[in-house]
Amino acid sequence: DMSRPVVTRIAPSPTGSMHIGTARTALFNHLYARRHGGKFLIRVEDTDRERSTQENVDILFQGFAWLGLASDEEPVYQAQRADRHREVVDELVQRGAAFRCWMTPEETEAAREVARAEGRALRSTWRDRTDGDPSQPHVIRFRTPDDQPVVVVDAVQGEVSFPSKDLDDLVLLRSSGEPTYNLAVVVDDHDMGISHVIRGDDHLNNTPRQALIYDAMDWERPVFAHVPLIHGPDGKKLSKRHGATSVAEYADQGYLPEAMRNYLARLGWSHGDDELFSDAQAESWFDLEHIGRAPARLDFDKLNHVNGWWIRQADDERLAALVQQVRAGRGDVVADADLPRLIRAIPMVKDRADTLIALADQLAFALLNRPLAIAEKPAAQLTDEARARLARLSDRLAGLETWDAAFLDDSLKGFADAEEVGMGKIGPPLRAALTGGVASPDIAKTLAALGKAESLGRMADVLSPQA
Ligand code: GLU
Repeated sequence: DMSRPVVTRIAPSPTGSMHIGTARTALFNHLYARRHGGKFLIRVEDTDRERSTQENVDILFQGFAWLGLASDEEPVYQAQRADRHREVVDELVQRGAAFRCWMTPEETEAAREVARAEGRALRSTWRDRTDGDPSQPHVIRFRTPDDQPVVVVDAVQGEVSFPSKDLDDLVLLRSSGEPTYNLAVVVDDHDMGISHVIRGDDHLNNTPRQALIYDAMDWERPVFAHVPLIHGPDGKKLSKRHGATSVAEYADQGYLPEAMRNYLARLGWSHGDDELFSDAQAESWFDLEHIGRAPARLDFDKLNHVNGWWIRQADDERLAALVQQVRAGRGDVVADADLPRLIRAIPMVKDRADTLIALADQLAFALLNRPLAIAEKPAAQLTDEARARLARLSDRLAGLETWDAAFLDDSLKGFADAEEVGMGKIGPPLRAALTGGVASPDIAKTLAALGKAESLGRMADVLSPQA
């Protein structure tokens, strides 16, 4: 039904971390909703009471918040909907689409044996019996059609047909009264008005079972789109050994959320050869037609390239705050007084950093404690002759009223001319004094980033070392 309003959802279980595949599925659903002016919803599948702790639920929402994805309505918690699930199971029983089953575990095992021998899935011996005692423990099962194709039209996989003889009489309600997974998913998706179920293809096998429940309730099925799972760089299913698998790990490794969104959008979906694009572009382009049928491979070089590009687009003050967070994670607090210096240094190095970690490392020179610890090699540059020249340079720089990289570059060249030496006699000792040997940009940029007072201070430390 093309006139149906588009409502998509992500339905994660709180497991204690947000898998990168969940992040991508959420993004696809979010983009699809935005593309069609629809809604994107979050449903927490928290029926596993042991794993669904508040802490694990918080981890999920931290992941969504970091990714910049929010539910357009109050999130739904599946465990709170058990009464509604039971109501639908009752309705299915009334419709004759489900039935009560009193098979003991032994009888179930025996029926399974027979089924296996006959090359079909389990059929309950209670399908057509009416002599059960409802006060005795029993389950409620779905009455699966004996042998007919269950056809699912999938927006990614195409038309997929499942013989119903391979689908057992699915338990909908356990003897404890707990609804089962496939039933809960269908009821919730229906009640939430979900029009499109975009999810990992590990759920494809659940789809015929779910489709049968929709049909039995005379509910319109959603459009299904099963996306191949993300693979590691070696083409095998993504696992820990490939490196980061959770969203939090990518955040910790210094990836920007907008870069992650950009990269994940391209992981299994394409818009021509476009690699670098904004959220607005992705929202206007995203479609199901261009989701690939082959699993996408995680490629860290590509991710770094995308991230580096987004770092260069990012505002310097925001990057400074993020670098402060990286340093705080290492126990290094950036003093307020050092913040302007950090911000000034960012444009000088941001085109060399692919991650915030690399950016923080490139910026270390701006945040060194005085007096600097000078490494052996640069210390060797500070000969008596070099120090005497540094003292004259310091005097000259002290007189400058303009302090920007271009002007400083000219001043250094003018000083070299006046001293009748090449820049090779000036740069290395100056850099030793200014950085102690820590990585730094071009020398004029280093001076500009440090600022006048800090530059002259670091030079003075070298010229009159504390006893
Ligand atoms: N809760 C399921 C999962 O974590 C998702 C169910 C669905 O998307 O239908 O994989």
